[in-house]
Amino acid sequence: MIEIQNLQKKFKNNTVLKDITEHVDKGQVICVIGPSGAGKSTFLRCLNCLEQPTSGKVFFEGKDLTKINDKQLNQLREKMGMVFQGFNLFPNMNVIENIKLAPMKVKNIPEKQAEETGMKLLEKVGLAEKAKQYPDQLSGGQKQRVAIARALAMDPEVMLFDEPTSALDPEMVDEVLTVMHDLADSGMTMVVVTHEMGFAHEVADQIWFMADGYIQETGKPDEFFAHPTSDRAKEFLKKIL
Ligand code: ATP
Ligand code: MG
Repeated sequence: MIEIQNLQKKFKNNTVLKDITEHVDKGQVICVIGPSGAGKSTFLRCLNCLEQPTSGKVFFEGKDLTKINDKQLNQLREKMGMVFQGFNLFPNMNVIENIKLAPMKVKNIPEKQAEETGMKLLEKVGLAEKAKQYPDQLSGGQKQRVAIARALAMDPEVMLFDEPTSALDPEMVDEVLTVMHDLADSGMTMVVVTHEMGFAHEVADQIWFMADGYIQETGKPDEFFAHPTSDRAKEFLKKIL
């Protein structure tokens, strides 16, 4: 579904991604882990060309995102939901308005239908009763669950997550991870940058360990956590586990 070929990203003379070739299959859950500054966020942002790669190719559904015009790119981006560390909800809109905005504006879905779909998604993330609340009336965990529902409202083919729980108080982390776990179980294709090793171990089909601008090692979670092969991964796991 996503094919990454010889991806390189430089910021001035800082080469953050050196040479990455990988692919994500439909229905796969990939957890990207690695030390701070490794380039994980940059990598994720290159997958939907929020960052323009310096060289290399990123194919999504067969089209090279680095080669297409803005209109085509936006159409493909609609199929890639993204959830960041911050919640990025529109503060002047209530929860259901936040969720139905993009489907109505971008996909011309009638308001009634967007509202129905939005309410179903809110039920899915356990927040139906918060539909009329404003973002500043919600906890961090609730905001992040709304952000996930809002991304899902566009009916994406893949969901990209960049440390969705790292800005949350510890007691709110689980409620967000549970929603992500359910989403994975429902068959959603997901690329998740995370420091939550328990989640990665349990939910990922593949771990991609990133350090120094390369994906140093990939593997099934059981193998990776029990028997990392690269020195960088061994060192990283020793520090955090
Ligand atoms: P963390 O775990 O702390 O989130 P990360 O693995 O996500 O780290 P990135 O945010 O991708 O790392 O950053 C990798 C490197 O790229 C860092 O050296 C950072 O300073 C640099 N970088 C990221 N974005 C930019 C930018 N827009 N302009 C210049 N340098 C950038
Ligand atoms: Mg990051």
